[in-house]
Amino acid sequence: MTLVAVREDGPSLLEGYRAVAGEAHLGALAALARRLRGRRLVMVNSTATGGGVAEILHRLVRLLNELGVPTTWEVMPGDAQFYGITKTIHNALHGRPGELSRADRAHFLEVNRQAADALALDGDLILIHDPQPVALATLRRRAGQRWVWRCHIDLSRADREVWEFLEPRVAAHDAAVFSHVTFVPELPIPAYIAPPSIDPLAEKNRELDEGEIDASLAPFGLPQDTPLLVQVSRFDRLKDPVGVVDAFRLTRKRERAHLVLAGGSADDDPEGAEVLAEVNERVAGRKDVSVLLLPPDAHRVINALQRRSTVAVQKSLREGFALTISEALWKRRATVASAVGGIPLQVIHERTGLLVRSVEGCAFQMTRLLRDAMLRRRLGQAGHAHVREHFLHPREARDYLAIFARLADAAK
Ligand code: UDP
Repeated sequence: MTLVAVREDGPSLLEGYRAVAGEAHLGALAALARRLRGRRLVMVNSTATGGGVAEILHRLVRLLNELGVPTTWEVMPGDAQFYGITKTIHNALHGRPGELSRADRAHFLEVNRQAADALALDGDLILIHDPQPVALATLRRRAGQRWVWRCHIDLSRADREVWEFLEPRVAAHDAAVFSHVTFVPELPIPAYIAPPSIDPLAEKNRELDEGEIDASLAPFGLPQDTPLLVQVSRFDRLKDPVGVVDAFRLTRKRERAHLVLAGGSADDDPEGAEVLAEVNERVAGRKDVSVLLLPPDAHRVINALQRRSTVAVQKSLREGFALTISEALWKRRATVASAVGGIPLQVIHERTGLLVRSVEGCAFQMTRLLRDAMLRRRLGQAGHAHVREHFLHPREARDYLAIFARLADAAK
């Protein structure tokens, strides 16, 4: 199965957004949808569960359909070898040295070739997410189609050789989209900026009452009367869970707190088990740390954890965006996060959260927030307003439709 069935039941998303987030972006979104009405849009990525892209597509596809732009979502099939190669590519694009052998390159292209046969790519507008399916444009483009490559990775320190392998495939698209202006590489096609976004109505983000929060967290036996510091992330080295533990140890010398590291793995991420083992080793014997391995559909548990947290943490070493931050800010949580990649778009230092650059800095700011309820409240309120304005799905949907409308006009 390559086609992902997106849940279409339940109340209208558009009406829900109007009620929860106001009119922002909805007018422009509807106007753009009218211009593109009837054109078929196909989203392509490499996993239906786990990670931010899948999180976004489950709801964005539904929203676009509701707007009258028929949208489907295709997941390219892959094998363990392919996911190993694409993880190397992912890390190398984020600046961690990695090498692609001749055999790796051949296998990467072969899996793309098979996907070109297997996927239903006969829409009018094709939106390719991230490097895994990037070669499809060179293999399956038909006349009249518009192909856009949507990159969720911070390319500002990309490994040159790996990028040079991908670049001609990227250049076979009509345009590319990046989350932040500093990520844009030199390309012979137009580049657009559109950061990711969250869905305020999804199970992950909707309002929960105290009873629902208690019930969702009951199975985990977390302390009731101790402030919680929470990082929600796949167990991935670039999310630096071990660094969070080290910062927490410093914080604990000064303040009482309990650390929760909650995460699962993604189908296309082979490193998760290794990183989880490293984390467990680091926290062995500590009663003030809970490491929660969650199934991919634990949306309500994550929602409850974020809402119950005193401080949300995202100590990533590299980051395309970190949806987890918008999720925490939307819930008015005071947030400490690394000043990397797309994070500073969301965390404006001292206004919507606190940015850090080291284990010591992270420990300092976590301690500061644990001690200052007024500061937590101020940052949380400003964070919520910031996400409402910039990082909810109607804005991202509007951006994609605007890009496709422009490309469609240019083709006339
Ligand atoms: N997430 C989840 N379960 C987990 C870990 C993460 O549902 O065990 C969600 C998280 O709430 C967020 C997304 O997956 O919505 C991760 O997106 P982000 O941009 O933060 O990181 P990525 O995993 O894409 O690098």
